[in-house]
Amino acid sequence: MQIIEGKEKILSGYSAYLQDESKLSAGEIQYLAFPETEKDIAEFLKQMSGKNVSVTVSNGKTGVVGGAVPLSGALLSVEKMDKITDIKKIGDEWRVVCQAGTVLSELNKKIENYTFSNSEEYFYPVDVTETSTRIGGNVSTNASGERSFKYGSTRKWIRRLRIVLSTGDILEIERGKIFASKENEFEVTIANNKKITVKIPSYKMPSIKNAAGYYVKENMDLIDLFIGSEGTLGVVSEVEVALTKKPENVMALLAFFADEKDALSFFSSAKKELKTAIVFEYFDSGAFELLRPKLPELPEDKNSAIFFEAEFNDNTIDDISSIIEKLLKDNNSSMDNTWGGFEKKDMERIREIRHAIPETINEILAKRKQKFPNIHKISADIAVPDEKFSELIEYYKSILEPLKLQTTMFGHIGENHLHMNIIPRNDGEFSKAKELHFNFAKKAVSLGGTVSAEHGIGKIKHPYLEVMYGKDGLKQMAELKKSFDPKCILNRGNIFPEDLLCVK
Ligand SMILES: Cc1cc2nc3c(=O)[nH]c(=O)nc-3n(C[C@H](O)[C@H](O)[C@H](O)COP(=O)(O)OP(=O)(O)OC[C@H]3O[C@@H](n4cnc5c(N)ncnc54)[C@H](O)[C@@H]3O)c2cc1C
Repeated sequence: MQIIEGKEKILSGYSAYLQDESKLSAGEIQYLAFPETEKDIAEFLKQMSGKNVSVTVSNGKTGVVGGAVPLSGALLSVEKMDKITDIKKIGDEWRVVCQAGTVLSELNKKIENYTFSNSEEYFYPVDVTETSTRIGGNVSTNASGERSFKYGSTRKWIRRLRIVLSTGDILEIERGKIFASKENEFEVTIANNKKITVKIPSYKMPSIKNAAGYYVKENMDLIDLFIGSEGTLGVVSEVEVALTKKPENVMALLAFFADEKDALSFFSSAKKELKTAIVFEYFDSGAFELLRPKLPELPEDKNSAIFFEAEFNDNTIDDISSIIEKLLKDNNSSMDNTWGGFEKKDMERIREIRHAIPETINEILAKRKQKFPNIHKISADIAVPDEKFSELIEYYKSILEPLKLQTTMFGHIGENHLHMNIIPRNDGEFSKAKELHFNFAKKAVSLGGTVSAEHGIGKIKHPYLEVMYGKDGLKQMAELKKSFDPKCILNRGNIFPEDLLCVK
């Protein structure tokens, strides 16, 4: 295993490892390790634990909440552990076994080129937008994507994990084998038959798409505690994922509307009536303003859109087309105001449009940062239950419209999870946007929602998690972490503040 020692050496040759996409500033670190095997991970953790040095786990470095950014101590990058080791069938289910550093796009490529013995086509359905992410990172953040409306997030597809605890002990957890007791505890057996008791926090999770804090549920499966735990409980070394059958045919359509109300009303009906829908995404008028300079072909008289994909076959195509045409007409649009088709290139074109929004936001901010270096975008990652969604949208509008801030609301509307972005023009607007984000979090929680539906808490969203679960909820999470990581060396500062952990 390669270990780079000394902060100067790391800073001069390996500074890229001190970042992720949050652009949070790292602290100084003394060690950077590149394990190639699970044994390497265990040895490094034992060494660091012996020296009382904290360890941050890094993988694809695409996280947006600073989870892989070290505050001090050592960084363990699992990126060299990128092998796909098995494709197998267990009962009726096809599965892939891979190391934690496997790149998502490589996993997808391998599956696409594999000939399954029953001549069917399968795929791994978690479509994280950024495909340079790695599977261990996806597990640790419970990543999701556009298609999680139909297919769910990473959690749903994980069948087995191998985890290295900070003590160097290995845990192998198969789904369906270890459940919490009635007292909300796990009894976990580690090396030499040693048993640890793990108390599950008492807070109640919202039953919607959620990536905030530890997963907690009555009679829960131990594997679910590790999924989405942002590397605070152990280092994932190996992952077994399930595959599913590829849909026969998929249509991808981008329907334009002259009024945001029509777009939202179309979505609300289509969500009920289009039973084979896979994706629903929304683009508001702010998104159109951002995109127009790059995409002059966007219809001039339209200011919002819904992107959706639906599965079909020869028997269902006519019914599905009629439903779509009717819903468009009911909401003052039509197929003439809709782009898309059935080909891969149609879908890719629409996905490019979707991805142009965050890119454009980043370009605008890069320019503004030359004059106001401290500003960055404020992006709320909030979701609420179905029945509260329109109340949240009205709340955003009532607060934001009078302030004349530059905003855009776009994304995963299928799961009531829109990315509400404020793009500050100066320091004053930036301060205001931060204050508003806090209020948005409070509103979401009051509506039974979550402060993070997708990206997790990392090192930058602790105050929002406290709004959701209170100080006591955070303390209970910290206590749970100590059961697996008694010296509190792993991923300090992720999910909850360091001051709730053992002092270093
Ligand atoms: C342009 C863009 C688009 C994105 N789109 C999406 C999206 O559609 N859906 C979504 O959910 N997210 C999205 N993200 C966020 C990000 O891609 C995900 O959070 C992803 O799961 C991170 O994976 P990674 O390999 O880059 O992990 P990293 O950023 O390296 O790490 C993320 C967290 O996981 C921990 N970790 C990583 N590997 C391990 C391991 N083996 N064991 C223990 N802990 C580990 C790290 O310590 C850190 O806390 C996007 C990011 C960008 C920049």
